[in-house]
Amino acid sequence: MPIRVLPPHVAARIAAGEVVERPASIVKELVENSIDAGATRITVEITAGGVDSIRVSDDGCGIDPGDIETAFRRHATSKLEGGEDLSRILTLGFRGEALPSVAAVGMVEAVSRPPGSQAAAVVTLGPDVDPHISARGAPVGTSITVKRLFERQPARRKFLRSASSESSAVAAVMTHYAMAYPEVRFSLSVDGRKTLASIGTGDLRDAVAAVYGAEVASAMLVATPGEGPVQVSGLAAPPQISRGGRGYISLFVNRRWIQNRRLAYAVEEAYKGLLMVGRHPIAVMNIRLPFEDVDVNVHPTKAEVRFRDESGVFGALQRSVRQALLAGAPVPDADLYRSAAGARVPVMDGQPTTALLWRHAVEAEARRTGGALGVVITGQEPARVATPSVTLPVLRVIGQFGAVYIVAEGPDGMYLIDQHAAHERVLYERFVGSRASQAPESQGLLDPVAVDLSPGQRAVLAREVEALRAHGLDMEEFGDGAILVRAVPKTLAAGDVREGVARFLDLVTEEGEIEGRDQVAMSLACHGAVRAGKTLAMEEIRDLVRQLEECETPNTCPHGRPTMILMGADFLAREFGRR
Ligand code: ADP
Ligand code: MG
Repeated sequence: MPIRVLPPHVAARIAAGEVVERPASIVKELVENSIDAGATRITVEITAGGVDSIRVSDDGCGIDPGDIETAFRRHATSKLEGGEDLSRILTLGFRGEALPSVAAVGMVEAVSRPPGSQAAAVVTLGPDVDPHISARGAPVGTSITVKRLFERQPARRKFLRSASSESSAVAAVMTHYAMAYPEVRFSLSVDGRKTLASIGTGDLRDAVAAVYGAEVASAMLVATPGEGPVQVSGLAAPPQISRGGRGYISLFVNRRWIQNRRLAYAVEEAYKGLLMVGRHPIAVMNIRLPFEDVDVNVHPTKAEVRFRDESGVFGALQRSVRQALLAGAPVPDADLYRSAAGARVPVMDGQPTTALLWRHAVEAEARRTGGALGVVITGQEPARVATPSVTLPVLRVIGQFGAVYIVAEGPDGMYLIDQHAAHERVLYERFVGSRASQAPESQGLLDPVAVDLSPGQRAVLAREVEALRAHGLDMEEFGDGAILVRAVPKTLAAGDVREGVARFLDLVTEEGEIEGRDQVAMSLACHGAVRAGKTLAMEEIRDLVRQLEECETPNTCPHGRPTMILMGADFLAREFGRR
């Protein structure tokens, strides 16, 4: 369709507003244009958070040389014909505002070649530089470069955050579009370093792998659309995989990335009872509904949309996620389930821990309603889940199983203890204790070690500096984002100190802030705890179990996962038909 300037009566009905607040808004608009142009490959390169330069290139349909100047006029679009179109918007763009707004805040060069043209048309323009048109050889598609952003808008520039936060805002845009359009190959380079590359297979799981990593992607559970006009599909992480922040719920409405707190809450609701307090889900959900049931023309950056029936969408979303969680629950494996039912269940903050609650609840519900939705913690089986725990009795160690679990015997039955979780608990209580007595288990370094920090690590350091010191990390600033470390907590002293400190700070970042818990101690414990998969000597196992017995809360790790499962003597007798 040719590009034309919208007639004033249509332009007037468009929710206008400033679309360019920061580099990420430019990237969003340009990427949307590339998607609308049918691109199969979209490459974004930014430097200095996008303030120095942003380039978005695609292999889409290109702009006709005769139209390239018009494209930068206000309300010039090829995507809307008449006013009625506003109620049925199929493209991401429709306002004809992005390109002129971008040219108002930075120097732009647009190079575009449709498949039929021999050469690309080039237009350069800027805040007070009139458009200049030329021609040049270039591949089919469009490449738009924006430089010297906000040079004429010092006020806007002042509101920008550090280059690294602007870069992460750009990355957020890119990761969301990569997940909304798995058939498109997205790539993002930040200061010459590739930070995102989706492979464009069309499979959402592949796109999610590019964003959250293969491990998370392969564990994600599939949500399939139910009945009704609102179709919700996507991927939702099982409750065992969660995050400390709320930023991992991605919602798309008719393939448009939206931010909507109420709908994000619908996803959180679907996980109710399955996640611990302070933990949040990872989910990527596509909501499809008739175009006339959603108004995208309400917000300048189109980040918000209005639904004709928001409650309907809320319900459909929640059901779809819930269904995925129930369908993907650990197989209602009768053995597992029954063993758990006989177990004394670890309790945290007065709540049964998630893993066991999960098993019981799902089983109970699946039986009661034939697999229907909603987990209600009532009735026979779940009641047992709520049995509070008591102090750990003295245990006799039998051995190790699978290099992961410790098998032990107590007066009331057989205990399976998760060695990593148990050791984490032991270390955690030790760290908290030594901190309270102001005697951190610290080890001085003969030669101080300089450690370079990433922006994320620096942020943790700034936030947790007191806690880190209290745990025996003695350091000072060393300029250029590096620190000079003079002493480290004992668990970080073994091996390469530089790497240990860096990995530990990452761990603190990854675990996020968990309400009311000591994050630094938790991360130290996790870092220092013996891994699953490590064969332990009998003596080591005994030591660990002794220390666990002395813990105040032996039955959960600091994250709230169970450290042990008890198969009661009664339960075993019943299982073997002795009773
Ligand atoms: P809108 O996307 O709302 O139409 P824009 O200002 O973003 O407005 O773009 C104006 C027009 O320029 C678009 O309608 C489209 O015809 C053309 N255009 C912009 N970017 C591209 C691109 N990457 N490939 C092809 N055409 C494009
Ligand atoms: Mg656009």
